[in-house]
Amino acid sequence: MKPESKIASGKTKTVYKLEDPSLVLIEFRDDVTALDGRRRDSIEGKGAINAAITAKLMQVLNSHGIPTHFVEFRSPSSIVAKKLSMIPLEVVCRNIAAGHLVKRLPFKEGSPLDPPIVEFYLKDDERGDPMVNARHIVALKLASFDEVAFMEETTLKVNEALKSFLASRGLTLIDFKIEFGRDPSGNLIIGDELDPDCMRIRDVSTGRVLDKDLYRQGKPLNEVLEAYLECRRRIVEGD
Ligand code: 5GP
Repeated sequence: MKPESKIASGKTKTVYKLEDPSLVLIEFRDDVTALDGRRRDSIEGKGAINAAITAKLMQVLNSHGIPTHFVEFRSPSSIVAKKLSMIPLEVVCRNIAAGHLVKRLPFKEGSPLDPPIVEFYLKDDERGDPMVNARHIVALKLASFDEVAFMEETTLKVNEALKSFLASRGLTLIDFKIEFGRDPSGNLIIGDELDPDCMRIRDVSTGRVLDKDLYRQGKPLNEVLEAYLECRRRIVEGD
C-alpha cells in the first residue's frame, strides 16, 4: 500500500484510500494496546486474526439486516469498507457484569444483567473516555436524540445477533463495544471492528477467557495469541 494513500492511523488500524472514493481499505495491524494507549506491544499474526473475525461477524450482522460498513475481506489482514464519517462515541453493551461496570457500580462480577445494559462513552483519551448520556451527546452536537435512540436500539439488535451466533460456536458474549458512522446520505451504520480486542468472550463450558482481558491482565503475549487463534478457529473456521 502506497504511504501517500494513508488517510488515518489509529492505535491498531490504518485506513487507506481506494480508487472508489466511497470505499476505504482498513488494515488491522499487529499492535495491541491498553490503558488508553499507554501500554503497547505487538503480537505477530493478531492483525490477520482480527480482520478475519471482524469480516465474519460483520457478515453475521448484515445477514440479520443490520447495516455495517463491511464490503469484503482482503487477505491477510484488511477489509474493504464503506467510507463513513465516524461519530466519536463508543457504544458498550453488557450481558454479564465485568470490567468497568463492577468497578463503578455495585454489580457482582459474573452476574447476569437483565435487561442488558447499553452505555455511551466519549472517545477522548485525554479525559479517559468519559461516560456520557443522551443530553451530553446532543449538547456536544455529536448526534440528535433520535440518533441516540437508534444507536441504542441497533446495539441491542447487534447484541442478540452476536450472542446467538457466538453461542452456536460454544462462546459466551459478556460485553462488547461498537462504533457508528454516517454514510454520505446521513444513515447511521456500524463501522470500526468486531473482534476480541473490543469484546469479552468466554468458553461456554470452561469459562476460559478468549479476549483482550488476557493482555489487560498482563498475561504472556503467546497466551494472548493462542486465545485469539482459538476465537478465529471457532468463529471463522467453524463454518
Ligand atoms: P469496559 O467498559 O468494561 O472496560 O469494557 C466493556 C467492553 O467494551 C469490553 O468488551 C471492552 O473490550 C470494550 N471496550 C471498552 N472501551 C474500549 C476501547 O477503548 N477500545 C476497545 N477496543 N474496546 C473497548
